[in-house]
Amino acid sequence: MFSLRRTPLYLQILLAMVLGALAGYLLLLAGWSEAVTDWIKPWGTIFIRLLKLIAVPLVFISLVKGVSQMGDLTQLSRLGFRTVGTYLITTLLAVSLGLGMVSLIQPGNYLPEDKTAALNAEYLSNINDQVHMADELKNDGPLTFLVDIIPENLAMAATDNSKMLQIIFVALIAGIALIAIGKEKAAPLEPVIDAVNTVILKIIDFIMLYAPVGVFALMAGMVTDFAGDTAIFASLGMYALTVILCLLLLILGIYPLATRLFANYPAFSYLKGIFPIQLLAFSTSSSAATLPFTMEHSQKHLGISEETASFVFPVGATINMDGTSAYQAVSILFIAQLYGIDLTVAQLLSVLLLTVLASIGTPGVPGGSIVMTVMVLSSIGIPTEGLVIILGIDRPLDMLRTVVNVSGDVFVAKLMDKYKGKPSDLISS
Ligand code: ASP
Repeated sequence: MFSLRRTPLYLQILLAMVLGALAGYLLLLAGWSEAVTDWIKPWGTIFIRLLKLIAVPLVFISLVKGVSQMGDLTQLSRLGFRTVGTYLITTLLAVSLGLGMVSLIQPGNYLPEDKTAALNAEYLSNINDQVHMADELKNDGPLTFLVDIIPENLAMAATDNSKMLQIIFVALIAGIALIAIGKEKAAPLEPVIDAVNTVILKIIDFIMLYAPVGVFALMAGMVTDFAGDTAIFASLGMYALTVILCLLLLILGIYPLATRLFANYPAFSYLKGIFPIQLLAFSTSSSAATLPFTMEHSQKHLGISEETASFVFPVGATINMDGTSAYQAVSILFIAQLYGIDLTVAQLLSVLLLTVLASIGTPGVPGGSIVMTVMVLSSIGIPTEGLVIILGIDRPLDMLRTVVNVSGDVFVAKLMDKYKGKPSDLISS
């Protein structure tokens, strides 16, 4: 018998999206759109607020944890710096790919112009304050962006979701300081940080339990706002296609080729060896859950040395999320396109920087990047409500981006082995 409690969450969300759209449509036909705005939409706003609420603590703790876990950087200095450096480069390239694809395909522009104009008007009516702020900025010097990264005080940075860079800055400093005081002195803090991190992840679990209600409400509101026009779904389809193309290009094209070219390992052996890892990543949607298998399998079937595997993979599962960052870049620009917001070059650079940092702070769990996406959206000044449009189809995209996340880690591990002249060289020759 059908039981809602046993239905996986992603199916509940999908169902909620369809039912919400249907309910919105029926209520619209009955001439009750005002009732939807008054009585249904607020439940969706609550959902978005909950996500925003947890964003700052999540970013803070997962970054402190991520950075401090690299505690043996000095012992392992060469491998450590090389690995982290390579991870940053691959993430940056993945984001650039995402930005390029979404600018090329422009999925948001599949929405009829009058709808974009309506959304844009709604957006503009909300940003008077921001325009004011932008005017103020214009009067500032060229280094203002740098000055703005450093918060005057911690409490203020934590109260404003658009100040994500400030929070990241403080978290990075705290993480580095933890490394600097040495393992022994940092030891008592480690379990505390772990425990707080676990609590935050649990709260996200709770919030996600509420997600079907939130998505239902937001979707119903969206349909009445759109006056029953279903054109949004054409855009949504193009958006999903853009994300999928981008991720497949990485999985089947860029990584195998890069492994051949830079790690001197046959592309086919890479694809064959990594396939079981990718399957597990796909089915669990979690790079953290896949980690033990990635470590074991890659040593046996991809010739990765134990030394590399034991360092490169745990760090990778925490900070290297190429799929997540490419996906975030596409999603953020897609939502901006829907709302008819033309991003300036400075804003595009912020998207680049923020998505790279946000992917570092994303936990390797199903839907881990949802909270981060809210955070980046509010940092750039794009309406966070736009998130609901993409949330309903997030799960399949999450499965695929997790595959990219682990594939990127394996590529980098092959590369690190190559530079050390470890066993993988023997296999490839
Ligand atoms: N599910 C992803 C992972 O575990 C994270 C995300 O993008 O949501 O790698």
